Amino acid sequence: MSAEEKLQEIAAEVCTCEQCDLWKTRTRAVPGEGNPQAKIMFIGEGPGYHEDKQGRPFVGPSGHLLDELLASIGMKRADVFITNVVKCRPPENRDPLPAEIAACSDYLDRQIATINPLVIVTLGRFSMAKFFPGEKISAIHGRPRRIGNRIAMPMFHPAAALRTESYKVALREDFKKIPVALAEAERIAAEAAPKATSAPAQSRPKDEPPQQLSLF
Ligand code: URA
Ligand code: SF4
Repeated sequence: MSAEEKLQEIAAEVCTCEQCDLWKTRTRAVPGEGNPQAKIMFIGEGPGYHEDKQGRPFVGPSGHLLDELLASIGMKRADVFITNVVKCRPPENRDPLPAEIAACSDYLDRQIATINPLVIVTLGRFSMAKFFPGEKISAIHGRPRRIGNRIAMPMFHPAAALRTESYKVALREDFKKIPVALAEAERIAAEAAPKATSAPAQSRPKDEPPQQLSLF
């Protein structure tokens, strides 16, 4: 099955999912969308009003800012994959509950495994907590970190940036680091790829500790 077909299968499951109570109040589930071969994946919090109506991620004011930020680094939505930690809108845009995030995590994990992105950008606290548990966004935003053979970068949520000018400035600055992180991730991937011509690579420790990258 191709990556595209796998993503379609996951999306179909999401659209009929009743694994947490958020299905009861959703208009449409929002599985996520983008390039099945994306090198960069953006993970937000959960659908808001507009996303719930349209069944697509980041299509309201936050989405317009995200589009603008992508354009600032020469990218389009179609180049990347965009999704959320919960696929159904929390009522009144309240924070997703831990049980809801846990119930929905298998979909996100399968999307990540299918796309296998080089860089994961977390938007806001809830997706950050998945990759950087216990850390504070004010302290670590914009700092890429190697996790396995990927790079994860925590960033402020576009909605927070629309409310607070200083977060918007930080988000713009942090976005500029994405191309550098991608180049570094490509280097890591090339190094990790088994080379057909060389002797068997020495085995690597399975759980390399996350490393702060020095180049930023
Ligand atoms: N905010 C999010 O976290 N995700 C969306 O899809 C839209 C707004
Ligand atoms: Fe299912 Fe996730 Fe929607 Fe909850 S938020 S009903 S787990 S798709």
